[in-house]
Amino acid sequence: MVGLENKIVLVTGGSGGIGQALAREFSRQRCRVAIAARRQETLSACAEEISRHGGEVFAIACDVTDRQQVKQLGAAISARWGAVQILINNAGIARAASFTEMADELWDEILATNLTGSYNCCKVFLPEMLRAKWGRIINIGSTTAKVGYRHVTAYTASKHGLLGLTRSLALETARQAVTVNMICPGYVDDERTRENAQVMAQKAGKSVAEILQLFAASAPQQRLIEADEVASLALLIASEKLGGMTGQAINVDGGAVMA
Ligand code: NDP
Repeated sequence: MVGLENKIVLVTGGSGGIGQALAREFSRQRCRVAIAARRQETLSACAEEISRHGGEVFAIACDVTDRQQVKQLGAAISARWGAVQILINNAGIARAASFTEMADELWDEILATNLTGSYNCCKVFLPEMLRAKWGRIINIGSTTAKVGYRHVTAYTASKHGLLGLTRSLALETARQAVTVNMICPGYVDDERTRENAQVMAQKAGKSVAEILQLFAASAPQQRLIEADEVASLALLIASEKLGGMTGQAINVDGGAVMA
């Protein structure tokens, strides 16, 4: 992909399904890829897998909800390679609960991770991009950034908030060759989706396969999305080929949401 070689990339949540695919694909483009998540063990396992295939990867434990830890993350990447040029705010959590039964703690945790976590990373990594007059911020949203769904009010509110952050920041950075965009996946065929299906299957008295089938059927293409499809779009957004696109939120969802 044009212009990606040697770029310094940070993927938050780089040890999970989509984050791992993002890290793998950017390292395939010969980027230097830092991955961050809370649990060092899974992070290191992902880093090893990428290194085995020749990628240059740096795994650093960091909780994105904690600004101090994000600053330390920035210092560690700078000391090793220099300033982050491509920031992918992917770390996120999702838990379903009906609104009246949802504990306040769940609301706080989801907002702190999905919205404030991304805000913290933008605060720490954007200034260097502005100084360098080049940068890419890619926020991993969800179709829930655009439409409402039942029983995921906190998650939906966090992703709608992230869309607002994306659009406003895109305006503030537009003259400095920094782009800020969002990718909105539908149901991705990964561990998290299987876990969610398991919970729903138990509640609904159905099999996991049946629930996964329902997820797939919610999209006109009648299928789940591959994490690699999200990564392919991220590569394009990050490349020199798409410098003119900013403030956009693109769905990768099999046609489920057309807004
Ligand atoms: P996973 O649960 O597989 O991975 C989440 C990643 O985020 C893990 O690496 C996890 O590691 C990390 N993480 C969670 N909390 C924090 C935190 N506070 N600080 C740093 N890292 C954290 O999730 P997915 O791959 O499924 O999701 C990735 C993104 O894609 C999320 O933003 C999600 O909302 C979005 N998405 C996912 C969809 C899906 O169907 N899977 C659909 C649409 C959007 P650790 O726990 O060690 O911190």
